Amino acid sequence: MKSTYILTTTTSTIEGYNIEQYLQTVSSHIVLGTNFFSDFAASFTDFFGGQSTIYENKLKEIYNKALDSIKRETQKVGGNCIIGLKFDFDQISAKNMGMFMVTAVGTAAIVSTIKNEEKSKIYKDKKYINGSEIDKEIKKNKIKRELRENPKNSFEDNNWNFIIENNISEICYDLVLCSTEWYKTTVVDKANYCLEKVKQYLYSLPDEDAKTLLYTMYLDEKFSTFGKTIFNVIKNRNILDNKRILNELENIDSDVKLKYKLFSLLTVRDEKIDVDDLADYKALLECIESKFPVVVSYGKQKKMFSSTEIDVWICTCKQENDMLLEYCFKCLKDKYGFYTDKVNPPKAKEWLMNTINFLESFQP
Ligand SMILES: [Zn+2]
Repeated sequence: MKSTYILTTTTSTIEGYNIEQYLQTVSSHIVLGTNFFSDFAASFTDFFGGQSTIYENKLKEIYNKALDSIKRETQKVGGNCIIGLKFDFDQISAKNMGMFMVTAVGTAAIVSTIKNEEKSKIYKDKKYINGSEIDKEIKKNKIKRELRENPKNSFEDNNWNFIIENNISEICYDLVLCSTEWYKTTVVDKANYCLEKVKQYLYSLPDEDAKTLLYTMYLDEKFSTFGKTIFNVIKNRNILDNKRILNELENIDSDVKLKYKLFSLLTVRDEKIDVDDLADYKALLECIESKFPVVVSYGKQKKMFSSTEIDVWICTCKQENDMLLEYCFKCLKDKYGFYTDKVNPPKAKEWLMNTINFLESFQP
């Protein structure tokens, strides 16, 4: 089959034409056995001596073959242009035999000629994007659609790899929410796979978006299935957002879970503590002192069979506890209404005091 006229361009735009529609990625592969090279062993010796023309011509022939083939692919999908055309020359090994593969890849598109008055406008504000950016955009949109239409379908390896390799952050919430569904409804092996991919994805998020995305998900119950994973990523990436924590703490109501989460975030260590952050740390300390006071009351308790009275603290659940007890005998909460000793106001204050002292030692 002889291909009809198909335009090709190595860039993402094509001068004098309007790109009407991007169709899909097209590719062709030409595999060369080792014979290809042994046949040219003789000319190889002359390679640097200027007699490489036979070899060059042969290569050119192969590139043309790849080009013909990708043009036919384009025609098949209804395109009249290949945008962002690229050639790759790869070594592959099969059964200990060295082989080479020439790959042509590009985006099939439909283009039409531009009228003259439009032309001058386009030349003025032309933006250059390269071909692979377009491929990325197409695939990204496909994944977005998939997430929207089939939120319960789990992803294949290649989709995950694409999302992770390209640090695609704008589908973050949808992706993690869908993963929550998959994780909860699938078999153990697949759930573990899903968890692993979510983890890799969270680590791949670009720095400039990671702070907002990770904090929002961590603090929102909707994402709690992966809460621990999200927290570990925040911690391991040393993402501390004092302003966000302060803001959330100041507006907190009686949401106990949120309180724990915010306090646990204070254990995150920012790698680059800035002296300018001192004010934030002080504000946080103040906020914790005023917003998280001791919630229990104190009283006396008469000992049985004795006339002596002892001091007790009275929990919000009404249980009277010996002063030596750190946690309520009945409900296991401490005097601040917190359950565990990992995070509570005294611990948080201690972390903050340490940081403040450290920062103040740099002050003149
Ligand atoms: Zn209690």
